Amino acid sequence: MLTGMSTGYVYHEVFGWHDTGSAGGLFPSSPRTGVQPLWHFEHPDTKRRVHELIVVTGLVDELNRIRPRPATVDELARVHDTGYIARIRNDSDLPYGGDAGDGLTPFGHDGFDIAALAAGGVLEAVEAVVDGRVRNAYALVRPPGHHALAATGMGFCVFNNIAVAARHAQRALGVDRIAIVDWDVHHGNGTQAIFYDDPDVLTISLHQDNVFPLDSGHTDERGTDAGFGYNVNIPLPPGSGDGCYRYAVETVVVPALQRFRPDLVLVACGFDAGAMDQMARQMVTSRGFHQLTEMVMAAAGDLCGGRMVMTHEGGYNPAHVPFCGLAVVEALCGQHTVDDPFHPLLSAMAGQELQPAQQAAIDKVAGLLGDIVSA
Ligand code: ZN
Repeated sequence: MLTGMSTGYVYHEVFGWHDTGSAGGLFPSSPRTGVQPLWHFEHPDTKRRVHELIVVTGLVDELNRIRPRPATVDELARVHDTGYIARIRNDSDLPYGGDAGDGLTPFGHDGFDIAALAAGGVLEAVEAVVDGRVRNAYALVRPPGHHALAATGMGFCVFNNIAVAARHAQRALGVDRIAIVDWDVHHGNGTQAIFYDDPDVLTISLHQDNVFPLDSGHTDERGTDAGFGYNVNIPLPPGSGDGCYRYAVETVVVPALQRFRPDLVLVACGFDAGAMDQMARQMVTSRGFHQLTEMVMAAAGDLCGGRMVMTHEGGYNPAHVPFCGLAVVEALCGQHTVDDPFHPLLSAMAGQELQPAQQAAIDKVAGLLGDIVSA
């Protein structure tokens, strides 16, 4: 029985201390390459300002604060190679930290502690939902996670937070079947790879076709062995807006969930499909993200008592992302505070409705759900 506030919320100020340095967006600055020092795209403000808006609007008073704890090495090792975890720990001891693997994923001195807290924050949110202390939860964590592979970080991600949480739910909390829906605009390649042969974890990624990683997230990447059919990629054309994303969730995501019948739904929630994001070319509005959240919530309500945990991934426009994050958390808890001042402008952009090429891309994926069977 739930009493009081039924939406959990994880944030810690130290997530703003994850130090990605003064890169020129993506690359280290250098007078030889011509990259000028600026800031890294994965900058604290894109997340910190979400939290500040949740506090200043008073929405935080409607939420059940969940304190994050660091994931232990054993918990991280359910997903990551121990050699990789040790390397991050060692590089984290260096005076200026290191990089998680691809040269795009810097972390500062003692950055291991923050990355472990991000993974542990999602894990705590999952525990609260599985225990029934809250109905659903939002984990506003940083660094993000969905690109991280077992043996390397990449794409701003050090540890795969949502994968660590899913393995924890399976191994420590006795949850049998978990669905992971990833609507970050980039392909959730790390999560896909980690669960590629696992038929008990359904992974679904909606992403802009061929943005990052390159040549990843194709429709024919469907899982392997017993896991075949349990990985679903929905690559969407550039220019996809609210109508396209709603159609994809209605036509592919919800039917896939209904076939799979999860015990827990996790959402890798990026806001870089937002209409003002600099890292991709999609057009989703804050109201669009609100609607997507409600659609997945309704499916979780029908299938698994509403048990759903969302974890923060990308989203790189520090002015607009806070309104998208607010809209999603408002959907989770059924409250409303302030209107998004950007919404009238963004919702009126041409092409917000479903376009024929988008529909064709989604319909093609809808035909691939037949291998998903419930337990
Ligand atoms: Zn992303």
